[in-house]
Amino acid sequence: MSERAEVDVVIVGAGFAGMFMLHRARGIGLSARVIEAAGGVGGTWYWNRYPGARCDVESMEYSYQFSEELQQEWEWTERYATQPEILEYANHVADRFDLRRDMQFDTRVRSATYDEQSDRWTIRTDGGGELSAQFLVMATGCLSSARVPDFPGLERFEGETYHTGKWPHDGVDFAGRRVGVIGTGSSAIQSIPIIASQARELTVFQRTASYSVPANNGPISEDEKQAIKRDYAAFRAQNSLMPTAIGSRLPIADSLATTVAPEERERIYEERWEHGGLPFLGAFLDLLFDPNANETAAEFVRAKIHGIVKDPEVAERLSPKTVIGCKRLCVDTGYFETYNRDNVELVDVSETPIDEITRHGLRVGDREFEFDSIVFATGFDAMTGALLKIDIRGRDGLSLRDAWAAGPHTYLGLGSVGFPNLFTISGPGSPSVLTNMIVSIEQHVNWITDCIEYLRDNGYRRIEATPEAQDAWVAHVNAVADFTLFPKCNSWYLGANVPGKPRVFMPLLGYPMYVDKCNEVAAKGYEGFALTGNPA
Ligand code: FAD
Ligand code: NAP
Repeated sequence: MSERAEVDVVIVGAGFAGMFMLHRARGIGLSARVIEAAGGVGGTWYWNRYPGARCDVESMEYSYQFSEELQQEWEWTERYATQPEILEYANHVADRFDLRRDMQFDTRVRSATYDEQSDRWTIRTDGGGELSAQFLVMATGCLSSARVPDFPGLERFEGETYHTGKWPHDGVDFAGRRVGVIGTGSSAIQSIPIIASQARELTVFQRTASYSVPANNGPISEDEKQAIKRDYAAFRAQNSLMPTAIGSRLPIADSLATTVAPEERERIYEERWEHGGLPFLGAFLDLLFDPNANETAAEFVRAKIHGIVKDPEVAERLSPKTVIGCKRLCVDTGYFETYNRDNVELVDVSETPIDEITRHGLRVGDREFEFDSIVFATGFDAMTGALLKIDIRGRDGLSLRDAWAAGPHTYLGLGSVGFPNLFTISGPGSPSVLTNMIVSIEQHVNWITDCIEYLRDNGYRRIEATPEAQDAWVAHVNAVADFTLFPKCNSWYLGANVPGKPRVFMPLLGYPMYVDKCNEVAAKGYEGFALTGNPA
């Protein structure tokens, strides 16, 4: 692309956020272009093709609701859909709504600069392309900046290396191979059982043990599907009243773990364990607020691990000692059972870290390991990583990297002081990763589209968060986090997985209250934002 394209809105990213943003932008008559680094749509589901990858929010919920026809016609096959099925769904949406003609793939946005004279953004890409747009919408994803830790000797390894978040399209056959997996977060927990069943030997390097609850995955019955589809809108409406916008069929209980009788508590945990998945954390109202309550759930899971894993020492190593739910709860299929296999070893690197990657494997203290393949299940520079990789310059040349040097500062997770006409979808300061993300994405896209329409209809050229509103919002997000147990462990929610990243809790707990606030802001003519132009 050599000439400078002029559009109303440039959207960066063609995951679920960028796709829906394009659809809505077109719907209000805007010209739009999506720029995407990948070779196709789907975002997370384009990149994360590791064995066992699937959603942990039930498929009937983890899907768009903006089109009744779409949600009626699409048939999910399993309670938790696989990555190929979700990617197929993303491609179906792209075709059905004819999205591809305004999308440019295999192109990475490198910089975006705001010009105050014209009130427009100039966006530059790695191919030397340039675009000009009045509005810039960052749909770059919260978990799209895959991260391999800076292990000494990384370049020396002569075998194959993979990151779960950048998995080869043709898959990987681990048959006969000696494999090392580094990490025990959600991606590792999904992939380890499958890698173990293929590989000759599998060694898992665990720094922090994770809590995981079985998915109890299986086919969705026709009855269940029809029950939801008969009134999908009502089902969605019920879910949107939940703090995480998930799971109205098994909502958070209103009793307290600390006040029920111990036998009753066990019975309830057992019931949620059997049900499977994330609703486990909703067994009691106080689990994410009261350390004593939390400990009862943590202890229940630890007992389950000891019940599954035959070697008591391995079971103990796999038993997390941290607050449950403080890092994202994992959802698995046969994870702990995998450690009963003869070809699997668990190595604890919490005290003695991985010293270096060697030509033939890696070294931990005085132990050398030899591998044919190393899998980095080491996660992402979450929430801010993809945004800050782009050189974004707002008013007076202010760079977003500088503006967010002490952690992300936003108003509503949608806009940031100094960056007019720039919107972030599921940005830090919004419920985002603490929710069913497709619900949060649709809510943001709808808000942004309505906002642009309001500006246009009322003759405004520019919108920017005010410092007062932003400061108050940042304080609110922190206050909510401090009221919970979330700040109590080293999670990616806090940026703690990236050395040097400011320790700030980035998402906001509480979807319904957040939506009310967004609606109120809009109803009051975008209160907390400064609007400039020549209003009619
Ligand atoms: P993404 O899907 O991450 O898409 C962002 C896109 O932007 C990417 O394709 C990326 O290539 C592109 N991009 C970024 N920077 C640039 C640039 N500079 N130039 C050009 N393109 C760029 N959430 C749930 O709610 N439920 C789940 O079950 C769930 N499971 C998950 C499983 C995995 C393995 C992972 C990693 C995440 C999961 N998530 C889940 C979170 C998931 O990221 C969101 O649900 C959702 O897919 C995010 O969509 P998005 O469009 O906002 O971002
Ligand atoms: P993650 O949760 O951040 O896990 C990364 C793992 O790598 C952790 O166990 C971490 O240990 C380890 N690690 C990082 N650096 C290390 C080092 N230097 N040495 C040793 N170990 C190291 O990443 P993820 O598993 O990719 O998941 C990220 C998020 O994506 C999830 O929380 C979830 O939101 C989403 N996701 C969802 C699903 C799903 O079930 N649908 C699946 C995958 C991902 P520490 O814990 O000690 O830092």
